Amino acid sequence: TSLIEARDVALSFGRTPALRGARLSVAAGEILAIMGPSGSGKSTLLHCLAGILTPDAGEIWFDGRRVDTMGETERSTLRRDRFGFVFQFGQLVPELTAEENVALPLLLGGSRRAAALKEARTWFERLGLDGLEERRSGELSGGQAQRIALARGLVAHPEILFADEPTGSLDSLAGEQVMDLLVAAAREQGTTVIVVTHEPRVAAYADREVIVRDGKVSSFSDAGVGA
Ligand code: ADP
Ligand code: ADP
Repeated sequence: TSLIEARDVALSFGRTPALRGARLSVAAGEILAIMGPSGSGKSTLLHCLAGILTPDAGEIWFDGRRVDTMGETERSTLRRDRFGFVFQFGQLVPELTAEENVALPLLLGGSRRAAALKEARTWFERLGLDGLEERRSGELSGGQAQRIALARGLVAHPEILFADEPTGSLDSLAGEQVMDLLVAAAREQGTTVIVVTHEPRVAAYADREVIVRDGKVSSFSDAGVGA
């Protein structure tokens, strides 16, 4: 049984078709890599699954509920309470300290400031970020900023972590550190991970990989999924 599913999803930007009947089904606890050439529709598919973009046709299902027909309020509640996000770069709020950035999802979910910061701080030792709690994004290396973004994506214990090129701005060593931490933390929490990447090295961390080509999903490691 699947936790989240895209059924024959199509979406165009003006005249540009980004998705053309994409099908994908992800099981709870699975770590899935979405690969494929640049411009093939990977990010668009991720954004449809996460309830950020609405398909022109097809359906998105999460935990037995239809996402694509939900109202925006319900969808933003779903994203806030049950999903986590990590993107490529430029995602930390520059005015906030590192620990405030990590605490953000908890604060948005209604936690009190002291409790949220306490929980946020537990992530710093765990991710090798000790001593960086008070820094702002301008005072962090790319790898440090990306680990802080990862902590923020996981701090509220989301059921699904959506990651779009989470190592894309990093050199290979920093990228491997981020992926090691991402996979370890996700397994420990039982978080389902859907990661868009064009790097085979990143995909190697996944349980399964699918390839998006011309707006469709194909799979070579699981004959039961895709086209
Ligand atoms: P990928 O993530 O595989 O690189 P995308 O999903 O970002 O691919 O893009 C798929 C196609 O849709 C590309 O042709 C891209 O240029 C186009 N596209 C994506 N987002 C937008 C947008 N906001 N406006 C217009 N075209 C877009
Ligand atoms: P990625 O594929 O990692 O999402 P891109 O550089 O393709 O990175 O896209 C970055 C942002 O620009 C995304 O929000 C995407 O929706 C948007 N975008 C991509 N292609 C286009 C386009 N042709 N026109 C307008 N916006 C685009």
